[in-house]
Amino acid sequence: MTEIKNLTMEELKTALSELGEKPFRAGQIFKWLHTPVQSFEEMSNLSKALRERLREHFVLTVPEMARKQVSAVDGTVKYLWRMQGGDCVESVLMHYEHGNTACVSTQVGCRMGCKFCASGQGGLKRHLSPGEILDEILFMQKDSGEKISNIVLMGTGEPLDNYQNVLKFLHLVSCSGGVNIGQRHISLSTSGIADKIEKLAKEKLQITLSVSLHAPDDETRSQIMPVNDAFPVERLMRACNTYFDTTGRRISYEYMMARDVTDRPWQAEKLAKLLRGRPSHVNLIPLNEVAESPLKPSSKETMRRFQQALEKRGVTATVRRKLGPDIDAACGQLRRREQGGNP
Ligand code: SAH
Ligand code: SF4
Repeated sequence: MTEIKNLTMEELKTALSELGEKPFRAGQIFKWLHTPVQSFEEMSNLSKALRERLREHFVLTVPEMARKQVSAVDGTVKYLWRMQGGDCVESVLMHYEHGNTACVSTQVGCRMGCKFCASGQGGLKRHLSPGEILDEILFMQKDSGEKISNIVLMGTGEPLDNYQNVLKFLHLVSCSGGVNIGQRHISLSTSGIADKIEKLAKEKLQITLSVSLHAPDDETRSQIMPVNDAFPVERLMRACNTYFDTTGRRISYEYMMARDVTDRPWQAEKLAKLLRGRPSHVNLIPLNEVAESPLKPSSKETMRRFQQALEKRGVTATVRRKLGPDIDAACGQLRRREQGGNP
């Protein structure tokens, strides 16, 4: 059966007419689908007969909150959702001065195999559907009672490995009949699947593309990110150029600082050379230690020096603040502890 939250307004109209229902009901139903309703029964302005027909023909996905942790340090909230079928995914709600930001997962697990990442340790279990990604937003808003104004696709999963579903999600979440979060308030983070970046460029979205570069040289990058063997740095940068040329949107580069691996002075120099002349912004992120990896974070002093080396060469760079440190809410810490007996 079709998951009804995956449908756009147009698709919903078509589906209703195929059932012999009045297509104008689509507007009412669509509105309900973008609220955290738990059942068709709750759609009180629809006739009982219509609610019954919807129940017979569609699945309404409703995640169950399996765990919630609130940071005592900064109020960041980490949620663990149990999706229908039992798979668990995490999302994080962060509070910034400019509004609430939701960090959502796009897959159950991940197959990209980055050496430093806890999310990908168990491989990929399955893709999330567009409606399931939307559910993370809807149910975080419900639980917190707060409006989410920004979204980052930086939870578990590689968004461009789940291309069609993620694209549909971006459409659903930014459309005016739904939660209506503007694309300019959405960032998509990718490990660097170059051909998909070029495909995404053609969609001409207003979202911010964030590329997890983490090393400017192929030798280091291949050591920590297997995706670099398929799409080495130069190939990736070509795709980034295409993305900027097609969309006019400045690209954000994530650069993880790992002691003696990615934080050496020559790497700052090489990174600056790589980005020179490209409208870009670098986010320096301290590595979060994960039990399975020998990588260690760089010192504050090294990070500061790395940042200065970039700035001196005309590349803007900021050091990212770590939110929710006491609840492991940072990127790369999200994982399915509930499954597989992880710590
Ligand atoms: N798969 C996508 C998005 C999810 S990961 C991607 O890789 O970009 C979100 C971010 O967390 C990425 O920049 C990723 O490289 C980073 N990350 C993963 N593990 C990390 C760790 N242990 N420490 C710091 N950043 C990490
Ligand atoms: Fe997947 Fe991103 Fe983790 Fe790499 S860093 S394994 S792409 S979630």
